[in-house]
Amino acid sequence: MSQATALIDGNNFYVACEQSIDPSLSGQPVIVLSNNDGCIVARSSEARALDIPMGQPYFKIRHKLKQLDVVVRSSNYSLYGDMSQRLMSLLSQHCEQLEIYSIDEAFVQVNRPYSYDLHPWARQLRALVHQNLGLPISIGIGTSKSQAKLANYLAKKVSTQAGIFDLHMTKDQYHWLKAIDIEHVWGIGRQLSKWCRRRGINNAQELRDMPSNELRSKLGVIGIRLQHELRGEACLPIEIVPPQKRETSVSRSFGRPITSLEELHQAVSTYVIRASEKLRRQKQRAGAITVFTRTSTFSQPFYNQSATSQLNTPSNDTAVLLKEALSLTKQIFKPYRLLIKAGVVMQKLQSIEHLQPNLLEQYNTTELQRRELLMQTIDNLNRRYGDGTVNWAICLPSRSWSMRREQLGCISTTQVSEVPIVSA
Ligand SMILES: [Mg+2]
Repeated sequence: MSQATALIDGNNFYVACEQSIDPSLSGQPVIVLSNNDGCIVARSSEARALDIPMGQPYFKIRHKLKQLDVVVRSSNYSLYGDMSQRLMSLLSQHCEQLEIYSIDEAFVQVNRPYSYDLHPWARQLRALVHQNLGLPISIGIGTSKSQAKLANYLAKKVSTQAGIFDLHMTKDQYHWLKAIDIEHVWGIGRQLSKWCRRRGINNAQELRDMPSNELRSKLGVIGIRLQHELRGEACLPIEIVPPQKRETSVSRSFGRPITSLEELHQAVSTYVIRASEKLRRQKQRAGAITVFTRTSTFSQPFYNQSATSQLNTPSNDTAVLLKEALSLTKQIFKPYRLLIKAGVVMQKLQSIEHLQPNLLEQYNTTELQRRELLMQTIDNLNRRYGDGTVNWAICLPSRSWSMRREQLGCISTTQVSEVPIVSA
């Protein structure tokens, strides 16, 4: 029995999540904007057909979108994150080994049946995801991760494949690899694709069959590994346990420039609370914290400042991290500057399993355990009843600086108050 590697990828994921919770949007041209309603970051296929470009600033195209009757949504990352978790947990029930690669992508390892044909498995999985979550997915199958990536690209591009492409079931692999431009090969960035094109290497097939020594001289062992992968030899294993994060950050642009220390305190506190939650979810503690802020790159004079503090004892307790962050915020604040962005970075992360205590500090283990339980309770309440159910006083006054989300759809999967009520 041979093994195959598949890449499962959500189609137009952000838009699909919006359509899933608001079915009146299906079949409509829909776009999703980046933070602060900045640029277009996702388009439904109907919006693509109207030639609406990806990455276009919203303010430049606002009127055209209105004329074309395109539905506009502000980004809603709590919805996308929640849908992603549901998708991954469903996939893990139906795939043998699963590596979550991004918010909407997962590599899986599957055994080929005696017929060798994985189409029935893939069709069933697509139907299951659609039935449970209302999300369309594409499945690309090969014998390595790089092949699975290319197959997934073909599954999306070739309409006759109905969202499934198995590179090893096709009679003409040469033809299909030739149809994939070099820019779409996994691991070939913009610079490398230029280098390839200068050498007459224009597509995946030509990269696979080019002289190995040329590739080695440019990319070293990574190039050789990529070539092996394209030929179907799996060199990159499926990583079931995600590697431990070294840093975790939360940063946002403001909806309007801010100039007061009070508002900067409030913004930084909001990000620290979010980052501390992330640390606890990742089962990690931070050994250092950095806070930064800046003005717009176009403002004169440009102001950009950061400050870091080392913690005596690593922590993921919001109160401890808030105290450090607030004193750092005072250090980086400068009056009369139009600040448009701030953020926090949690550094020197370590697992909660082994705490490295400071020899010079006194510990009250009972107090530490009590604080841990308190954080756990707050997280559980916020998870169950929605973000901000239990909040920190510093975040409570209204936040007129928070990012623009004028076109926010409903958030019914993460806020109890948004769950639709049906009367019968
Ligand atoms: Mg996707």
